Amino acid sequence: MDTRQLIAGNWKMNGSLAANEALVREVAAGLVQAGAARAHAAVCVPAPYLAQVAALCAGSALELGAQDLSCHEKGAYTGEVSAAMLREFGVRYAIVGHSERRQYHGESDALVADKARAALAAGITPIVCVGETLAEREAGRTHEVVKRQLAAVIHTNGHCISEIVVAYEPVWAIGTGKTATPAQAQEVHALLRAQLAAASTHPERVKLLYGGSMNAANAAELLAQPDIDGGLIGGASLKAQDFLQIVASAR
Ligand code: PEP
Repeated sequence: MDTRQLIAGNWKMNGSLAANEALVREVAAGLVQAGAARAHAAVCVPAPYLAQVAALCAGSALELGAQDLSCHEKGAYTGEVSAAMLREFGVRYAIVGHSERRQYHGESDALVADKARAALAAGITPIVCVGETLAEREAGRTHEVVKRQLAAVIHTNGHCISEIVVAYEPVWAIGTGKTATPAQAQEVHALLRAQLAAASTHPERVKLLYGGSMNAANAAELLAQPDIDGGLIGGASLKAQDFLQIVASAR
């Protein structure tokens, strides 16, 4: 079993041909020193840049990810991108259910579960995001919310649930500079691990990432938690040296 941590960058809707080239070249070159042997590193990029970044990653340890995909195989779904199309560009991971898609595009738990299924069917590892809003945390509903979100994915993908990656991303920590404390993150990760253990014969295979304002300064403490197997990094993944420092912080 591959026990290396996974550090995945989420560029969101950022980048340009010139900026991507500089960023990926610097990250790919720096990965050897940053401890790529200890951790997997991936970047999840906007769809139009997949071909460019695939070419830039070739021959390096940096892996390619997408930020979303369609739950449908093909057909009359204007604007959608299928898992098979992503696969043709060497995509290894696809984020599904990011809170920005749940919030701005009305993605339901059931749709997120279907997207995870479409990814798995094409040989892509879905990075399934779960996480509570600030109002939900303050109302003491964190456990209920993340369990409900993960339960939908387990229900739809039960037989291959050990092939997914889960990212716990408290919504109040994303892009806000407010990070969950290592203890807060660990508590939710332990809960998710227990839920997966009840549903899977190989729960130890599932990597549980933390995401939400992880940066070069706070990564080591978060990544040292026993049930944190990596990070999903937004803002800090746009700066090569910050991203490399997070990779170097993997345990
Ligand atoms: C994210 O978008 O998944 C994320 C964690 O963003 P940030 O690191 O900027 O909070």
